[in-house]
Amino acid sequence: MSQANSYLAELVGAFGDPIAENPTGVMQEAAFRALDLNWRYLTIEVHAADLAAAVAGMRAMNFRGINLTIPHKVEVLRHLDEIAPDAGLIGAVNTVRRDGDRLVGENTDGKGFLRSLQAVPIDPRGRRVVILGAGGAAKAIAVELALAGASHITVVNRSVERGRALADGLARTVGTASDFEPWVSSHRVPDGTEILVNATSIGLFPGIEAVPEVDFATIRPGMVVCDVIPNPPRTRFLALAEERGATTLDGLGMLVYQGAIAFTMWTGREAPTDVMHRALREVFG
Ligand code: NDP
Repeated sequence: MSQANSYLAELVGAFGDPIAENPTGVMQEAAFRALDLNWRYLTIEVHAADLAAAVAGMRAMNFRGINLTIPHKVEVLRHLDEIAPDAGLIGAVNTVRRDGDRLVGENTDGKGFLRSLQAVPIDPRGRRVVILGAGGAAKAIAVELALAGASHITVVNRSVERGRALADGLARTVGTASDFEPWVSSHRVPDGTEILVNATSIGLFPGIEAVPEVDFATIRPGMVVCDVIPNPPRTRFLALAEERGATTLDGLGMLVYQGAIAFTMWTGREAPTDVMHRALREVFG
């Protein structure tokens, strides 16, 4: 008796511009292969003016989900049917999942950061946090740490307006005690800080010699120092913090976990994080 085969692949992918160097597809494809799933991750250049048409296209082609990167993370909100509460607070979506005919906007960046903290294991509940930066990554991390019960969050940023808006927003929307400090020179990390996060782009390849200006004498053993930079995984910032006796956490883990959370949202399967981690490590040499 002949048996019908299905050659139909499930589709997910990423929309961005520029996007050619985005390595997410390598990690997701490795995960699909590891679980023997007939899924494809397509890395697609979508210009800002074409986002509405691209979302309509993914609906028409029954994509199971999509990642969004620059410049679409905020603009995409108006094209979706529903926004997850934390993505609404962050004001940006990096992952869309399909719920029947509905497209739901999620943000897995901050969740990925939390998951990498929990893997140490570190519970952010009741902890005092300092976040360097107030851009998209900083916002996602700050909101998830606030929702996870961090007791106090200080935002340190070069642009006063952006930094203050993030700190005020955390206090207003989540109710977390937060304040803002302008980043004027070598930042002294306040006594009692338990988690310090570099959420700026300082140190990202190819600018790998650059280090966020903090007074490393104020970093103490027992402090958890994190970097969002995935490439290189071991930044100079983390190396200097480690010399001071801090526990460090790199941005590669956050990148793997944010992808793993999206993978599970799309496929309903647990993500093979070790396979994904290995695939990205190979990309970053
Ligand atoms: P944004 O452009 O939204 O924000 C950049 C932030 O860095 C701003 O706060 C900006 O300050 C600050 N900054 C940049 N250069 C300097 C400088 N020379 N001195 C002081 N502050 C500076 O970027 P994103 O938040 O989207 O991304 C930031 C980094 O996070 C990127 O390197 C990205 O690769 C990484 N990332 C990592 C993820 C992961 O999974 N590991 C996920 C998402 C992002 P100002 O407001 O004053 O301009």
